[in-house]
Amino acid sequence: MTDHALCSTVLSDPKIAIIGGGLTGLLTATLLERASNQSSSSSNTPQITIFEKSRSVGRLATRYRSDSKTDKNWQWSFGAQFFTAKTTDFQQFIAAWLDTGLLKPWCAEVIELTPASDNGQSPNIQSKEQWDAVHARYISTPKMTSWGRELAAALKHTTIVFKTRVAPLTQYLHHQSPQQSQRQIQHQTHNQTFNQNSKQTELFDETGASLGWFDWVIFTAPNGQAVELMADSGFNQQDKITKPQMQACYTLMLGWDDVQKLPETLNGQLTPQWDVAYLNSAILDRIFIEHQKPAHDELLPSVTIHARNDWSEAHVDDDIETVKEQLLQAAKQALNWKEYSAPSQTDCHRWRYAATIVNKDTEELGILIDETKQWIVSGDWCAKGNIESCYRMAQQTVKAIMQTQ
Ligand SMILES: Cc1cc2nc3c(=O)[nH]c(=O)nc-3n(C[C@H](O)[C@H](O)[C@H](O)COP(=O)(O)OP(=O)(O)OC[C@H]3O[C@@H](n4cnc5c(N)ncnc54)[C@H](O)[C@@H]3O)c2cc1C
Repeated sequence: MTDHALCSTVLSDPKIAIIGGGLTGLLTATLLERASNQSSSSSNTPQITIFEKSRSVGRLATRYRSDSKTDKNWQWSFGAQFFTAKTTDFQQFIAAWLDTGLLKPWCAEVIELTPASDNGQSPNIQSKEQWDAVHARYISTPKMTSWGRELAAALKHTTIVFKTRVAPLTQYLHHQSPQQSQRQIQHQTHNQTFNQNSKQTELFDETGASLGWFDWVIFTAPNGQAVELMADSGFNQQDKITKPQMQACYTLMLGWDDVQKLPETLNGQLTPQWDVAYLNSAILDRIFIEHQKPAHDELLPSVTIHARNDWSEAHVDDDIETVKEQLLQAAKQALNWKEYSAPSQTDCHRWRYAATIVNKDTEELGILIDETKQWIVSGDWCAKGNIESCYRMAQQTVKAIMQTQ
């Protein structure tokens, strides 16, 4: 389905709330705006508000630190590292940013790495593949967050409200201020947050303050958070939200002061040379060499390591410092650093909801729509749990809204 095909029907000035300013939210707003721009009617501009609880773009995440001596940076993409564009629609969508150079193909050399054994045997490195143009992987430059920021900046009819957590749809009932009691009575008679006559929904923040009334509400939080948001809302597809299973991921970030200090496994002296390693390890999954990515050569040596999702899920509630120590020990065995080649920078992040378990035999869930309330539950987890899924779920959402106008 092309953007153009989304415009075959007409939007009539709807007020649309999107909960979550990750890529699903940003891409949904982008496609909604494009659909309304291409429509022949002049009175169809959607007024979109994105509510985002944090101050950044969801699971696209970049952390950096500056070295006060050199003014240079270490930088880690500690959420998504890259994305694919397998469908023609998504390839066409990203073409504009490939032209400007904000998005770049990453033709990484990939190896399989077996960490050093306890009896002192060195790590084993085997060449695996190159991510070339046939199976292109893309990164956003200079940071993985840059694309999200660019998408946000290009939105014309969308207000993004950061640092605002939308409350569960009935939460205001539990903490009432005197000003709220009148509102509560009013809402209870209108089926809580939803007004059946106007088909509008009123959203609240955590303090109970109204965020406004909306014709459509699109939820893009990870499914564990969506369950909490919708638990007492009367959403007619609630039982389906928990179907896809999401797992955690711990990310370890390492930095060295200069390339001379890198261990042999990372300094390019070993063959084959590599950018990405798939690990044969009970704890670690992949290693990414950040400073070898396209347009990243100004960085100080920076390496991001993702722990395995099954290991991370099993340790999701463990103390983060204990987890960090375990990851550092596993990374030391994988990269074989000695005291003189140990990283000077170490950091660890816990993603409670990182990856969706994809079962090839079961059908993709797709977005969940409550047509009576005009609520849509979306997000990468409704499909394959990756960035390309965010785009496809955004397409499905726009199509669903257009069809009911
Ligand atoms: C460690 C890791 C590695 C990954 N690697 C890859 C990869 O290599 N390739 C790839 O394609 N994908 C990868 N992914 C997945 C990719 O990051 C996601 O598919 C994508 O970012 C999901 O976007 P989203 O908008 O659906 O969800 P999110 O990015 O999670 O956005 C949802 C947003 O909703 C906000 N929110 C939640 N509740 C509320 C509330 N009540 N009020 C307001 N805001 C709320 C959250 O703060 C969040 O910003 C990776 C993810 C992780 C964590």
